[in-house]
Amino acid sequence: MTTEDQVRPALNYRNTKFISSAARMSQLDIVENCIEIAFAGRSNAGKSSALNTLTDQKSLARTSKTPGRTQLINLFEVDEDCRLVDLPGYGFAKVSEAIKAQWQDTLSEYLQKRDALKGLVLLMDIRHPFKDTDEMLLRWSGECNLPVHVLLTKADKLKRGAQKTALLGAKKTLKDYHSDISIQTFSSLKKEGIDELKKVLNNWFKRE
Ligand code: GDP
Repeated sequence: MTTEDQVRPALNYRNTKFISSAARMSQLDIVENCIEIAFAGRSNAGKSSALNTLTDQKSLARTSKTPGRTQLINLFEVDEDCRLVDLPGYGFAKVSEAIKAQWQDTLSEYLQKRDALKGLVLLMDIRHPFKDTDEMLLRWSGECNLPVHVLLTKADKLKRGAQKTALLGAKKTLKDYHSDISIQTFSSLKKEGIDELKKVLNNWFKRE
């Protein structure tokens, strides 16, 4: 077995620490053999809450950011060679076209050119999935063979039956995209879906 194939010991997501922020991909450091998993979603989709829930920390990622504020790529380290990357939220109606275009450039450059990137967690509010930029990310990830795991967030906002219906509907929609996409419901409020998410991340990180 080569070192590449070896499954390393389990990760403790509680150990996650903030490392740095960057406005552009060129400002991100490159660490040999480091695996990165990115989290992306429309602003208000519940991305910061999901990162805080996953890592069992109250304020690792900041919640309720101000619309239009300069958005940064935030890097977190779970272990020395396993990183979580909080990508800038998108979809604010109020920001200018120029800022929107700049975000798109940053996102597309990171997704398409970052060698360390091994998976994308795409967060969508269970009540409002598949908006324009979500669909764009699904297309891009297919073009660069990047596996995607979708979190239908704020699942607690719907009753169980409606959650199931939304999940089934989303699975159907995802058939229009590439095949390396998985999906689950998630609730930071109820702390539901954490183990399922960890399983996917551990697999991408090649950890137990
Ligand atoms: P971000 O902009 O994607 O980082 O979203 P936030 O994590 O800041 O969440 C946006 C809003 O949705 C906040 O008011 C959160 O309290 C709320 N929220 C986030 N996750 C959940 C959830 O699982 N259930 C419910 N009911 N509300 C949530």
